[in-house]
Amino acid sequence: MEAVLIEPDCVAALVSSVLEVYNKETSGYLMSRPNMTVKRIDRKDVKLVSLSYAYPFQTDKRTPTYVFHKNRTASIRVVDSLYAMGVDLIGGFHSHIYPHDTALISDNDVDYTLREMLIANNNGIKMDKWLELILAVKKNEYKTKRKIGYEIKGFERGVKINVNTGEDNGFDIKIVGYWIIPKDEWAIKRQAHVYTKYNGKIC
Ligand SMILES: [Zn+2]
Repeated sequence: MEAVLIEPDCVAALVSSVLEVYNKETSGYLMSRPNMTVKRIDRKDVKLVSLSYAYPFQTDKRTPTYVFHKNRTASIRVVDSLYAMGVDLIGGFHSHIYPHDTALISDNDVDYTLREMLIANNNGIKMDKWLELILAVKKNEYKTKRKIGYEIKGFERGVKINVNTGEDNGFDIKIVGYWIIPKDEWAIKRQAHVYTKYNGKIC
């Protein structure tokens, strides 16, 4: 399956939307301009879907352990507006919050993405697979003062972001991705290799 490159502006949108109410889950859509690219990573040519935008849902019901569309017609309006404006819907994202900050996709998550695909397919956006990004979030309190800023490192399953939002607190966020392909009333899950750019380099 294709690897995924999250553009830096999209990373900033994802991070700020999951930290807005960091102790509750957030969800939204991931979009791209139609732009499959090939980049050289670790001396290999890698085909990448590049993610340009993230749209956080405003009308979702959020709790510490799950998030869902409280307003079904509002979520259809989001799909309708993306379709009308010719944006490519690639999938969605949601957060998993400490102490439930696993970077694994649950069966409930898979079920949710299948229903999202159904909404898209019933409203003009034809999709045969869905990318779901999971952002696992943990808050940190520091005893010694740190510089405000952020750092990103790649790891075998995705990217790890450490963002210091204050001198004595910050967040660790892991981003991992899964491709969900509907099959026989259920789905096949494939881990997506997730990359982003940091300091001008792909990581
Ligand atoms: Zn989940």
